[in-house]
Amino acid sequence: MARALNAVSAHLRGLADALASVIFPAPCRICGETLDNSSRIPICRSCLASLAPISGPQCERCGCPIASPIPLETSHAPSCHICRRGLYDFDFARSYGVYSPAMARAIILLKHHAVLPLGDWFARRIEEAAKPHPEMYAVDVIVPVPMHRARLRERGYNQADLIARPLAKRLDLPLQSCLLVRTKPRPDKLRLTVRERWRTVRGAYAMQEGARVDKLRVLLVDDVLTTGATLDACSRALRKAGAAQVVALTVARAVARTHISLVSPSLMEPDE
Ligand SMILES: [Zn+2]
Ligand SMILES: [Zn+2]
Repeated sequence: MARALNAVSAHLRGLADALASVIFPAPCRICGETLDNSSRIPICRSCLASLAPISGPQCERCGCPIASPIPLETSHAPSCHICRRGLYDFDFARSYGVYSPAMARAIILLKHHAVLPLGDWFARRIEEAAKPHPEMYAVDVIVPVPMHRARLRERGYNQADLIARPLAKRLDLPLQSCLLVRTKPRPDKLRLTVRERWRTVRGAYAMQEGARVDKLRVLLVDDVLTTGATLDACSRALRKAGAAQVVALTVARAVARTHISLVSPSLMEPDE
């Protein structure tokens, strides 16, 4: 009986998809092909499938893909040149996928075009990325990387919050969107060099007045990790206020300029 019902519902879903593509022939917002399903996310199946998880060796601490890992006999765990120098303040970070042109477009749909169901889709993906690392879940609170209030007023929402909110629900952890605040706005200049990224976020985050984080373990959530400067600055603010541990999850991870040069710079520029 249940099997028959499942078959009927799959059939109805198929019909609904077919009908939707006839009545509302919408293009995939990544590749432009006509959508063949009635999903709330305007991205076709093959483009969604192309937003793949990071594979291969990663830095044990910050999660960046490592092209040639150090041979096992000479090292305990692979780490990148930044983590070997101990530059990041956060304890641990992982990202779901590489910041490819398709991933950049998907993130822009959430960030600038208010395709809100993508927030939940991204939350599921980063939950996947964190699964092999139970220490990610051993936290007291989830905090989205905040936007400066002027930018928030302009955009109306914070994309990091749209990802962190469903994640907190899925993990059954408290969300505190106002624990951290961005006190210094990002400069208007569209593209920032690596040095500028670090300089503009230094001291750009602070605790919300009266917020208590003493001995708190915090999970930061953001859309893209580019240089790590933003997460580092947030981590320093939290640590200064007494946080015991800071870990971070992002949807995407920028790995090389080659990915970024494939599409227009204005499309690819993340917010850091
Ligand atoms: Zn597509
Ligand atoms: Zn690293």
